[in-house]
Order: sequence, then structure tokens, then C-alpha cells
Amino acid sequence: MINLISDTVTRPSDAMREVMMKAEVGDDVFQADPTVNALQEKAAAMFGHEAALFCASGTMCNQIAISVHTQPMDEVICEKLSHVYQSENGGYAFNSWAGIKLIDGEGGKITAPQVETAINLPFDWLPRSRMVVLENSCNIGGGTVYQLEEIKAISELCKKKNLRLHLDGARIFNALTETGDSPHDIGVLFDSISICLSKGLGAPIGSVLIGNQEFIAQARRVRKARGGGMRQAGILAAAGIYALDHNIKRLQDDHRRARIIGEQLAQMPQIENIRPIATNIMFFDVKPPLTAQLFLDKLKAYGILAAPFGLQTVRFVTHLDFTEQMLETTLEKLKVMSRE
Ligand SMILES: *Cc1c(COP(=O)(O)O)cnc(C)c1O
Repeated sequence: MINLISDTVTRPSDAMREVMMKAEVGDDVFQADPTVNALQEKAAAMFGHEAALFCASGTMCNQIAISVHTQPMDEVICEKLSHVYQSENGGYAFNSWAGIKLIDGEGGKITAPQVETAINLPFDWLPRSRMVVLENSCNIGGGTVYQLEEIKAISELCKKKNLRLHLDGARIFNALTETGDSPHDIGVLFDSISICLSKGLGAPIGSVLIGNQEFIAQARRVRKARGGGMRQAGILAAAGIYALDHNIKRLQDDHRRARIIGEQLAQMPQIENIRPIATNIMFFDVKPPLTAQLFLDKLKAYGILAAPFGLQTVRFVTHLDFTEQMLETTLEKLKVMSRE
């Protein structure tokens, strides 16, 4: 089966398993796992920050960041398609007793003027605007990418208005692949950053939360309170280090393959409204009477798996385990389908 459901479906390669097997480990609750420490130091340095914390998931990183940055009755500002709003079970309320202010942006992206408009006046009956979350690349927004200047404007506004700025960088390396900026360039514009090792980078588990010493010290306490303190986690951190060392540069292949698939999709009479393909994510609609589910069933019969996002909308995602050979096969099958 060819799997285009998500870039989370990748499995650790033999070389990655090798470094995991050989990882030097210790008890990370005592901060005594050298491999976890090495991963955290590496990630912090990459993004120009003092410290970092290895966590079980991207959701855990985002949720810890919200808890550390906010107090009950504070408000988090983000775009309506953000993962923190759509896909974390309302954790901002459940974990942090915070509210949320949604911005109706474009392709999941927001602008500095939109953020400024979303900030509440300091009346004591209004939630206190406290934090802004940017997602880059934006997942449901279509894999869209922020330009550095757009982020700079938001970062300056947040400083001026005393708002914390968090980056949901689950796919930050996909975004940086397109803009050519370094992690450091973008990292210094944020108070905290979450990066996923288990998406495009191909590690089996894990995300890293990045920030200053004080932020990470508190994040560590919150992680422990949520049951996220891990012991010999170096086995997993080793996969993360391997992923950062070996699997960033190749993301350009995923993007190239996505664009080629996009060209084929554009030839198909059953398909419309293909969103601009900026990275490794493709969103498109199937024309009625065809539904997303019917289209996906047909696709599956040809050996290709993908995900529905609504009644008419389908998402494809390219990734590390989607090879050039699989690209050829996918294009062939789509050509056959377009003639049906
Ligand atoms: C996948 C993802 C996350 C984190 O997901 P986990 O499954 O919890 O690791 C966060 N933000 C975005 C945009 C994502 O796509």
C-alpha cells in the first residue's frame, strides 16, 4: 500500500534503529540521560534559545507552552484552523483554563494587523489577551508558509503589547525548506517553539519544546504534573538526533513530489479547487456526485491510502517513506482514474 494519509506514518529506518539501540541512556527525570540532554541542547542551539524539553508529542509541547504562558481567564489568539484549536480537544480550556480568540485568516495564516485587532482592551470583564500561536507550516491551511517579514511584524507587535508568541512548528523544517531561512533566524522571533520529530523527520515518537531557561524550568514541572516525565528516554531522543542530522535536507524531495502530484490532480475531471501546494500537503475537492469517501475507496482499490477532510475534501501528504517509485505508481493510478 502507498500511504499518503500523513507524514506521521513513517517508520524508523534501519540506520535510525541502529542509533536507538546503541544510545547511551540514564534517568531523565533526574536530567541524567545524556542522549536526551544532547537532543535538548542541539534543538535549543539550532533555534537560538537557551534550553529545551523533550516531550512525548507536539500536542504536549503546545499544551505545556499555553499553561506556562497563561493564567486562568487569559486568552490565546490563533487562526481558526490552528492545531491548538482544532485538534487538541480544547486543551487550552481543559489544561489551562484559558479562552481562545480565533482569527479568520487565509490558508491558516494571520497578519500583525489582525492580531492587533484581536487584542482585548484592558477592561476587567474581558479575558486578558496573553499569547499568540502561529502554525508554520499550517497544516489544515494547506501546508502554507510564513515569510520571515510577516513573522517579524507579529513578533514586534507581541513585544509591544506584552503578548507571548509561540510557534507550533510541527512542520517548521518544511516551511524553512521553502523560505531558505535558518532555524535561528525564525527561532529568535518567538518566546517558545514546538518542533515535531515524528512528522516529516521520520522519528517514531517525540517533539521538543524550546525557550529560555526560566520557561523550560517551569515547562519541566508542568510536564511532570501531566505524567510526561520519562526515564531512559534517550532511546527515543537518539532517533530525534538522527532525524535532525539526516532528514531535514531531503524534505525538498517531498515538496517536489507533492507539486508533481498536484500537476496530475489538475488534469483530473473529478477534481476541483486544488489549494496552492506550498510544501508536502495537498488539499483538493472532489466534484459531486463523487464524495471524498467514494474517491478514497476507489483510490484504496488502486493501493493508495489518503485522508478525508470533510464531505468533499481530500488531503494527500508526501513523506520520507513515499519513494520516487511510489510517486510513479501514484501518477499512473491517478491517470487511470481520471479516464474512468
Ligand atoms: C501533528 C501536529 C501537532 C502535534 O501532533 P502530535 O500528534 O500531538 O505530535 C501539532 N501541530 C500541528 C500543526 C500538527 O500537524
